[in-house]
Amino acid sequence: MPIDSQTSVAEAVHRIWGFDTLRPMQESAIAAGVEGRDCLTVLPTGGGKSLCYQVPALVTGKVTIVASPLIALMRDQVRGLELNGYKAAALHSGVEPEEAREIITGAFDGSINLIFAAPERLVTSGFKVILGELHDAGRLGGIAIDEAHCISQWGHDFRPEFRRLKELRKVAPGVGIQAFTATATPRVRDDIVEQLGLVDAEVLVGTFDRPNLTYRVQARGKKEEQIAEAVRRHRSIGDGGGTIVYCLSRKDTEGLAQDLVELGLDADAYHAGLSEKKRQSVETAFLNETLDVVVATVAFGMGIDRSNVRLVVHATMPKSVEAYQQETGRAGRDGEPAECLLLYSPSDAGRWERLIGLSAEDSGSDPAGQLKLIREMRGLVASMGCRHKALSEYFGQGLEIDNESGCGACDVCLGETEVEKDSAKVAQVLLSAVARTGQRYGAAHVCDVARGAKTEKILSREHDQLSVHGMLATHSKAQLAMYLDQLISLGALEKVVEDRFETLRFGELGVSVMKGAAEVVLRNPIGTGSAKKERTRGRKQGREAILLDVDQQVVFERLRLLRTSIARERGVPPYVVFSDATLRELVKDCPATRNEMLRVKGVGQAKLDSFGEAFLEALGAEDE
Ligand code: ADP
Ligand code: ZN
Repeated sequence: MPIDSQTSVAEAVHRIWGFDTLRPMQESAIAAGVEGRDCLTVLPTGGGKSLCYQVPALVTGKVTIVASPLIALMRDQVRGLELNGYKAAALHSGVEPEEAREIITGAFDGSINLIFAAPERLVTSGFKVILGELHDAGRLGGIAIDEAHCISQWGHDFRPEFRRLKELRKVAPGVGIQAFTATATPRVRDDIVEQLGLVDAEVLVGTFDRPNLTYRVQARGKKEEQIAEAVRRHRSIGDGGGTIVYCLSRKDTEGLAQDLVELGLDADAYHAGLSEKKRQSVETAFLNETLDVVVATVAFGMGIDRSNVRLVVHATMPKSVEAYQQETGRAGRDGEPAECLLLYSPSDAGRWERLIGLSAEDSGSDPAGQLKLIREMRGLVASMGCRHKALSEYFGQGLEIDNESGCGACDVCLGETEVEKDSAKVAQVLLSAVARTGQRYGAAHVCDVARGAKTEKILSREHDQLSVHGMLATHSKAQLAMYLDQLISLGALEKVVEDRFETLRFGELGVSVMKGAAEVVLRNPIGTGSAKKERTRGRKQGREAILLDVDQQVVFERLRLLRTSIARERGVPPYVVFSDATLRELVKDCPATRNEMLRVKGVGQAKLDSFGEAFLEALGAEDE
């Protein structure tokens, strides 16, 4: 369906995507695109960046060129847009010359609105000529750069070829460049603006908080059982989504996948050491929803566009808060509630420190920066404050959280942590263990003293003679180490790093606690939240999940099956047909006519025409 150049933004968004409203930053980003101004938009994963570069071409009637790093993502996006009746194409190595020529012709004659291409292709001399001609013909509306953090060596996916994108400026003077990223750090942001040579760029920074994610930390026990329980918990509320489990090593992924299969889950391993074919088949199965659980190293990432990942588990603490944010970011891309579960043991940090130390020795580099990142991650885990708030603050944004009710979407605010009944005593003993050993030892030794261990180090220094030796014998070392981390984050202790060794010293609060002038409360993560709590997760920010009762879950399953079969027929991933959010709304609203169906969020005119009948029929089957 042709869209005339006078089409307003709102009308286009409604007609093509079936959305009634734009999210806050989307409006400004689209305006910049329409007016041809330079702009950098920073929105978290799932924040709705793609709409920002897809809409302007519909309004201006010109063509937007989108630089995108991954062929697989381009392909899925194009198919998704086509299903919406939006004319888009991708130019990449898999496209035959004949087809490529047709795409270019389409750009000139107005039958194509958007072209995705890899950055290295955009900067070839051949393509530059085409861009120049498009520009001269007045057909080039804008240049969008997706995953723009790839341009920065400070980012996590540095791709040097992104650097050359600023050459496009010369070819198409006066055409606006719109960059998009989910990376929150100011350094990367500044680098993007500089490397792309953006002029008077409007920088739009959304909130980094992902209200639909529930963050949890659990003390790691039998991890396969903990993971299986979490997966089943999600299955029991019928959310029907996928699970990604991140492990530290390749070997871990294979062992754990095997354990999960033995526990009756549909799981497979993924890491960079597998054959290309095997990796492809795992990726495809996961995307097509024929595989529920992928146990992977961080190699499983960028190409994963399954929007209904409902659970991301870290079987080990990741190496930085940035990595944690990035990896948990793959949960709930559709904006629906999802869970991020971190299985933590205080020994995780030690394992990372050893790895970092080894690789620093090999390469002769200074590990200080990496070690700092580890400590920050560990602090985030152990602090036992609201996780949403802690994450936002880490990235330099405050987050207003109601003191009474909390965020409603983290283990701490949901009251799933357990207050240590003996907080006062435990804190006193740990602090005096630090004091009596002369403030010269690290957490491991302090824990050993408090637990009454008889290590060589303890015996040789006669720390078994101290009155505090063995006073916390009933606590596990892992638990005490976590309490020490909490004392640090509360300011009762300070960690000092010398020669790569960490020692603990008193902080201001520590002195007061020892004198009995101040109290601290120590907490433990407990098992998982009750199912009841689970149902209320997801913060109230206008994107609340629609909760389905048991009967509705049956209908939801039926619609999912229909979606899978349509997706298979068309050779697209299921989420491209309709998102989970749309399926849920269909179940809830149960439209009986095409007009009613058009009111559902995510149903545009083209999808109504293609799939409306089938879905209406599947919904109607309920009444029999
Ligand atoms: P990003 O690229 O920022 O990770 P996407 O563009 O993939 O995010 O959008 C995430 C999800 O939000 C998609 O399912 C998309 O359809 C949905 N979405 C985007 N904008 C809107 C909107 N204005 N109203 C409702 N849903 C939206
Ligand atoms: Zn919270």
